[in-house]
Amino acid sequence: MAVAWLLVCHGLITALVVVSFLCGQWPIFQNTPIQRIHHFLTFGAYDYFLRCVGYVLGEKGTNAILSVEYFCCDRPNPILQVIYLSILGATYYFIASSSFKYIPGYYLSEVHRYLSLLGIAIGVVLFLLTSYTDPGTVNAGNVSQYIAAYPYDNMIYTERECSTCKILKPARSKHCSICDRCVARFDHHCGWMNNCIGEKNTRYFMAFLLWHFFLCLYGTVALGLILAGRLKELKVVYILTVYYGIENSFRSLTPHVVQWLLGAYNTQILLMVFLSIVSLLVGGFFGYHANLCRTNTTTNETFKWQDYISWQRKIKEAKASAAALKASINGMSSESKPPESKWKAFFRRSPLEEAETVVKNNIYDKGIIHNIWEIITPLSTRRSFSQTKSKAG
Ligand SMILES: [Zn+2]
Ligand SMILES: [Zn+2]
Repeated sequence: MAVAWLLVCHGLITALVVVSFLCGQWPIFQNTPIQRIHHFLTFGAYDYFLRCVGYVLGEKGTNAILSVEYFCCDRPNPILQVIYLSILGATYYFIASSSFKYIPGYYLSEVHRYLSLLGIAIGVVLFLLTSYTDPGTVNAGNVSQYIAAYPYDNMIYTERECSTCKILKPARSKHCSICDRCVARFDHHCGWMNNCIGEKNTRYFMAFLLWHFFLCLYGTVALGLILAGRLKELKVVYILTVYYGIENSFRSLTPHVVQWLLGAYNTQILLMVFLSIVSLLVGGFFGYHANLCRTNTTTNETFKWQDYISWQRKIKEAKASAAALKASINGMSSESKPPESKWKAFFRRSPLEEAETVVKNNIYDKGIIHNIWEIITPLSTRRSFSQTKSKAG
C-alpha cells in the first residue's frame, strides 16, 4: 500500500509542477500557490541559481551563464525541438515496451500497434512542417503585396518602417527579434518549433496542436482499455468476489481493483496520468488559438488591443472629466438654467461611466467561415496576391 501512496504523491506533485510551470500566469491562478510556484520556477529559481554561481565562481561564472541564456532564449536554437522529440520518442518507447505485449487484447485489436506508430509519424510530419516552412517572411520583394493584402486599420496598425529591415511594416506583421526578420500576420515566436508562427504556418501549427491533443487522448484511452482488458483476462473481479469474499458491488470492489492496478501496472498508470495532463494542456492551448482564428486575431494583436483600449479609455476619461468640469463651471455661472429632474439625474450615466465604452473594431474579422478559410489558405498563397505584384511591377 505504501508504494501506491508513493505513486499517487508522485503523480500529484508532477501534475502540480507541470500545471504551475505552463499555466501559472493564467488569470484564474492569480494570487494562488500555483502562481507563486510558476514565479519560482520561471524566475525565482534561476535568480537564486545565478546568485549562487556568482558567489562560488565570481563574475566570470555569471557571464558564462548569461551567455548560455542568450543562446537559449534570444537566438534561434534547437534545444526545445530536441526536448519535444525526446519526450515523444521516450513516451512511445515506454508505451511500446510496457504495453504492446498486451496487444491484441480483450478490447484492442492488433491494428493499434501500427495505428499508434502512424499517429506518431503524422505528429512528427506536422512538427517538421511548422518548424521548417516559411512563416511568411516580409522582404523588399513582397512588401508591397503584403501591404495591399493587409490594409492598415489606423488603430493598432499605422504605416511604419521596420527600423531593422528598413522596409515598410505591413499591418499585422512584426519584426521577430529572435529570428531577425519581419513576419506577416505574426502570432508569436514558438521556442518548441524554433520558428515564428505567422501567416503561412499557422495552419500547420493548429493542425499540430489538434493532432497532439487527439494523440494523447488516444494514448490515454488505449492504455485504459489495455488495463480493462487485463482485468477481464485475469478474471480479477471473479477472484476478488469468489476467493476473497469481497461483496460484488462497484463501491467495495473499486479500492481493491485500484490497488491491484497500481501494484501490477504502475508504468501504464503513470503514462495515463502524464498523457491526460498533456492532452488537457494541449487541448486548452488549441482552444485558445482556435478562438483567435475564429475572430481573425493573433496573440500579438490581443496585447495590442489591450494597450489600445486602455489608452483610448484614458483619453475618453480625460475628455469626459474636462467636459464635466466645464459643465459644472457653466452651471455655477448660469442660474437661469432649469434644475434637472431627480429621476433624470438618477438614471443618467456619469461622464466617467460613458467613457468606459471603448469597443474593439477588428477590421480583419470577416466572419467565422472567411477567417478559418484565411488560416487554411493564407492570403499570400492566393492568385490575387501574385496579381498585385504584376500590377505593382
Ligand atoms: Zn523587420
Ligand atoms: Zn521568430
